[in-house]
Amino acid sequence: MPSSHLQKTINDSLSSAIPSEEIQSDSWQKSLSHAIRSPEELLEKLKLDIGQFDIPKEAFNNFLLLVTESYLNRMERGNPKDPLLLQVLPTGKELVSPPGFTEDALHEKDSHFARGLLKKYHHRALMITTGTCAIHCRYCFRRHFSYLDEPRQWEDWKPAFEAIEKDSSIQEILLSGGDPLILNDSRLEKIIKRLEEIPHIKRIRIHTRIPVVLPSRITSNFLELFLNSRLTTFMVIHANHHHELRDDAAESIRKIVRSGIPVLNQAVLLKGINDSKEEQFQLCEGLINLGVIPYYLHQLDQVEGTSHFETEETLGKEIIQFLRENLPGYAVPQYVREIPGKMNKTPLL
Ligand code: SF4
Repeated sequence: MPSSHLQKTINDSLSSAIPSEEIQSDSWQKSLSHAIRSPEELLEKLKLDIGQFDIPKEAFNNFLLLVTESYLNRMERGNPKDPLLLQVLPTGKELVSPPGFTEDALHEKDSHFARGLLKKYHHRALMITTGTCAIHCRYCFRRHFSYLDEPRQWEDWKPAFEAIEKDSSIQEILLSGGDPLILNDSRLEKIIKRLEEIPHIKRIRIHTRIPVVLPSRITSNFLELFLNSRLTTFMVIHANHHHELRDDAAESIRKIVRSGIPVLNQAVLLKGINDSKEEQFQLCEGLINLGVIPYYLHQLDQVEGTSHFETEETLGKEIIQFLRENLPGYAVPQYVREIPGKMNKTPLL
């Protein structure tokens, strides 16, 4: 349990990240307010000695640590190389930036269509619904994204909706962020209703890591928002390792699948975490056992501070070949990389 001082810091931080009208007192929001934000607390809970890790203040300050209790519960106590721990623990390796690694590796600054809206792909637009997440993944391609320039209050979204209205080529809206499921149900409902008013919008795609890291967010009320909409909904979750698909996360993912919303997964190939045939096999098998289609395996985007996660493309190709030989076709993700300026992901195999 955090100290009262730390609790105040957490609350202040949450309040500044989410406009007050979006905050409810649901249990998932309470869980989020109790999330772990210090390496000391995290490592103590895992029964690990902080002295064996290299955690410079600069790496921590560049991108703060944030881990939910649920995600922590799926880490192995006493294992300094736990694949979930390595996804969230700051390290001195983040301060090394080889040539080619930049803050905006995907040139997203050039894709702004309106404030809060990116148009990176044909017939689709992406809403940066919030800058807040329920976890901070060290390899995140938006870890340097300037969220403060994006809309915060509901009124700020007017130009973005008008831009969508004017472009009848757009059929699908991707709700992205940060993590769009950090918004409360009433804010999500407002977004859905506003999009429903635009006749050429047919589909919503939610990109979220929350079913994996904050499973209590997946309530029946939340699912009904989408099931009652005229818009077809797809959910793309983000799991990188089969250990992430356990316990309460497995339950929440099953709940979404059983509601009838199609669920797909995208993963990132990460050195030291899931860069082996066996790990990827177990991830894909774990996903299909829950009813989730493995959609993409991404080659790491070359974002400053993430180079220690990069793997060779040849390894990714070998892994996919192995998956093809050992899993049904629907269980093999597309191995892709995103190239700035290209209107689609580039298949690597
Ligand atoms: S949840 Fe997604 S947006 Fe948030 S830090 Fe992780 S990868 Fe980045």
